[in-house]
Parts: sequence; structure tokens; C-alpha cells
Amino acid sequence: MTVQPQGGTTDRVEGTLLGGACGDALGVPYEFGSAPLAAGEVPRMIGGGLGPYAPGEWSDDTQMAVVIARVAAEGGLGDGAALDAVVEGWTDWLRGGASDVGNQTRAVLGEVAAGSRSTPAEDARLASYGLHARTGHTAGNGSLMRTAPVALAFLDDPAALTERARAISGLTHADPLAGDACVLWCHAIRVAVLDGVVPDLADLVAELPAERRDRWAGWVADAENGHPADFAPNGFVVTALQAAWSAIRHPWPDDSPTVGGLVAAVHAGNDTDTVAAIAGAVLGAAHGATSLPQQWLDDVHGWPGLRADDLRDLARRVSRRR
Ligand SMILES: [Mg+2]
Repeated sequence: MTVQPQGGTTDRVEGTLLGGACGDALGVPYEFGSAPLAAGEVPRMIGGGLGPYAPGEWSDDTQMAVVIARVAAEGGLGDGAALDAVVEGWTDWLRGGASDVGNQTRAVLGEVAAGSRSTPAEDARLASYGLHARTGHTAGNGSLMRTAPVALAFLDDPAALTERARAISGLTHADPLAGDACVLWCHAIRVAVLDGVVPDLADLVAELPAERRDRWAGWVADAENGHPADFAPNGFVVTALQAAWSAIRHPWPDDSPTVGGLVAAVHAGNDTDTVAAIAGAVLGAAHGATSLPQQWLDDVHGWPGLRADDLRDLARRVSRRR
């Protein structure tokens, strides 16, 4: 019989990536109404969705997070070379492994792949900020959905976490709100891993620039007072975060708070895999991989040919790198 470390930090480090991946795979079948989900129905990892995906397969949310995690495990995320490696990893993914890609991410990475002007990270920033200047609409949920590995890379350095979470968000999502959401969520993951509880998100608004703290405090309060489906459509990073936070605060009845929160997140509707991936990172960080059903851990898998044990290994390596 294998003895799992109940509630240990390692369990929570592993739970961060596994919770996100399981949320992603649980939400995939129901993304934008791909499969019906009745009001009282418990979602299952039946595949389908926009891929279409195999049962238990994760989507772009986890695929892009894996790219960040691999760079972080190899050499950390602290310098410019790491950001270049992340962008190169994403463009390789776009060419080879991407099963579905968000609009903003596709626009930015497509521009990077089309021709090099500078370093990969600088090219990405130029494309990202150019898109923002042209459209004014770059606050999609696509940087928040992949941000969890950044938190694991800076568990011991909250100031660096703030800076790097925003920098990695800005590689594709120039809007300050997308950066804010990544900073806020990464701090929630960090505290959850270290303390073994879901932190009070309202307290962490202090990590954000002073001029936007009041807005974020209001958005967090609205999420706590509302239900996950109140924040659909949730392609906007703020409503995606609100839907995920509302699901964490209003879980379905289940012995595992992670399962209950993820079921509630999928019932938010709309971008179900992303909302559940976002929620799953904080839930797994707080309650550990041991809060996930064995069946989910057996089934969950995805690009680039990884399974649950590979994500455990990756998560541990990221957290130990610094
Ligand atoms: Mg997805």
C-alpha cells in the first residue's frame, strides 16, 4: 500500500497542476455548450468539446501551462532567457500540439512565428501591445488560465512572483487587468500551497497597483455574493476569475472541496474548461492532489503525451528549482 503525504506541501504542489488539469479535462466536454449539462447533473470527463478531445484529455489551458512549467523546472522563470524559452515553447506548441487556441493567443503567437524582429519575448510583447493598441480588447482569460506554474516557481519570493506573473501574462495579454488577475491568482495559489487553506482573496488585492484595488475588491465581493453562472459570459478575464472564485466559495456538496468546487465551476457554463482550470489550481493548491478522485487521476492526460504522474513530477521540480 502506498502512503500518500496527507496535506503535505508536496501534495499541494502536485495538486496545483493536477487540480488545474483535472478542471480543464472536466470542463472540456461542456465548453460553450458542446455537450448538454442538466441543472442537477455531475459533469464527467467524457471528452469531445472543441478539440475534439479524448475522455480525460486536457486542452490548451493545461498545454500552455505545461510549457511554462517545463521552462521553470529547467532553469527557473527569473530572467529574460526564461521568457524567450516560454514564447519559443508556445510557438512550437502552436505549430505542433495546439488542439484549440484562444483568439488573442493565436493573433500574438502567429505574429511572433511569422517573423522575428528581436528576441522571442520582445517580439511577443510587441505583438501583444500592438494588438492592445489596435483593438483595446486584450483582457481575455487566456493568460489567467495558464498562470499556475508561475506561483510554484516563486513560493519563496512574493515580490518576484508579482513581477513575473504580470510579465508572463503580458507576453500575450497586454491589458493591465489580465496582468492583475494573474498576480492575484498566483498569490492565492502561493498562500494556498504554503498554508493549506484557500486564502481570503480580498486580502490579496493589496498585491495589486493601488489605483485598481478598489475595483478588484468590488469584483471579488460580487463573486462571493453571486453564483458561478452569474459571471457568464466568462471569456473576459475578470468574469472568468469571478466565476472560478464563486465556484470555490459556493461548491457543490461533495466530501472533497476540490471536487465540489470543480463541479460548481463547470456549471458556470460558457468557457467551462478554462473556469474549472482556473478554480482547480487554487483548489488543488489548498487541498492537495489527494483531494482529487483516483479515477480522474487515472484518466487525465494530454499534450505533450503527459499523464498525472508526469504533472506531479513537473510540479515538484518547478517548486524546488529556486
Ligand atoms: Mg481550453
